[in-house]
Amino acid sequence: MKHRDVVIIGGGIAGLMTAKYLAEEGVDFVLLEEHNDFFKKACGEGVIPDIRGYNFFDDLYESKVGVEREVDETVIHTNHGDVSLYMPYVLVDKLRVERELAKQVIKRGGEILMNQRVERIEGVKPVVLPHNIEANIVVGADGANSIVRRWMGVKPPHMGFAVESRTKMDLSPSSSHVELKKDVVPYGYSWFFPKKEDWNVGVGAFKTKYFRDAFERFRSRFSDAGRWKGAYLPLDRPTRSYGKHGILVGDSASQIISSVGAGNTTAAICGKLAAECIIQFSKEGYRDLDLSVYEKAWRKSLSRLFLNSYVFAHLFFTLRRPSEYFTDLILRKVVRSVSDSYR
Ligand SMILES: Cc1cc2nc3c(=O)[nH]c(=O)nc-3n(C[C@H](O)[C@H](O)[C@H](O)COP(=O)(O)OP(=O)(O)OC[C@H]3O[C@@H](n4cnc5c(N)ncnc54)[C@H](O)[C@@H]3O)c2cc1C
Repeated sequence: MKHRDVVIIGGGIAGLMTAKYLAEEGVDFVLLEEHNDFFKKACGEGVIPDIRGYNFFDDLYESKVGVEREVDETVIHTNHGDVSLYMPYVLVDKLRVERELAKQVIKRGGEILMNQRVERIEGVKPVVLPHNIEANIVVGADGANSIVRRWMGVKPPHMGFAVESRTKMDLSPSSSHVELKKDVVPYGYSWFFPKKEDWNVGVGAFKTKYFRDAFERFRSRFSDAGRWKGAYLPLDRPTRSYGKHGILVGDSASQIISSVGAGNTTAAICGKLAAECIIQFSKEGYRDLDLSVYEKAWRKSLSRLFLNSYVFAHLFFTLRRPSEYFTDLILRKVVRSVSDSYR
């Protein structure tokens, strides 16, 4: 049996960010990614640049590689008129971002192995299979359907589902657009994000049972769209994120702004905080491991954001059932206050 101090499972934003900071401190780890390249999953490729004092590009990613457009305005189309949200948002080429992050990991001396699907983990002191690697700490950065979460005995979060594709649109690329209309998708929204050459368009729903019909209607509007990619995404409060020898980062722990399904920046922040916790224990030879330190750290900066966003979405869609008009009025107020907070 081989031994590594840390095994990171999953090479998305969460796993790569954790790896980058571990590599910087010379911590012994290997990152295992199941695919032969990065970013195989569906995503709108939008990044909220600033969350709770962290700037994604300056403090976490430390690069601008892959940035395609910066937009300040999102027009929200409702059945009772349009509302303009002022909130800076950056559209990226996520494949380039993840490849660049991987480069940063390798440059700092970290090890990434591609085409390495982890099938399961066994034992309290974990053994990662089929690789047969024993580790002091396993980092579950393996997304919404995390096998690390299962090994840790953590209940899965509620999942929504979303799909996206790329197409040309006859719209000005200076703004993003969102449709929040029951007849487009009940319990969800559709989006139109301007990329460098075309648009990322997609639709997502909190309740998967309404999704199929909504998707068929949405897809029929875009005859020249490319391939449609879909994925589950956690739309819930975060789960417990630590065990005796394991921690969960990003979608695996539902560390997502669930009202809008935005998890790129929060996955990056939690990746950095996970690395800081691991670095602390690596200096103590992994004795007296207490990984709750990590949970305390991310809860301190992000707990309120996650909770407020979950409660808002829950109330909003509950009230929407009897009255779309009433919730569109609430939306206007919320959008005004969010816009003011960014000005
Ligand atoms: C359609 C859609 C649109 C979205 N749009 C946005 C958006 O515009 N902005 C935003 O901020 N968020 C968006 N999100 C959410 C965002 O994509 C996620 O929150 C984010 O990707 C979480 O990063 P992660 O690293 O935790 O997980 P992931 O990106 O899912 O990465 C997990 C990685 O683990 C690997 N993996 C999984 N299982 C194994 C295994 N057993 N062995 C080895 N490797 C494994 C996967 O291949 C993958 O590379 C969207 C989600 C969807 C589904």
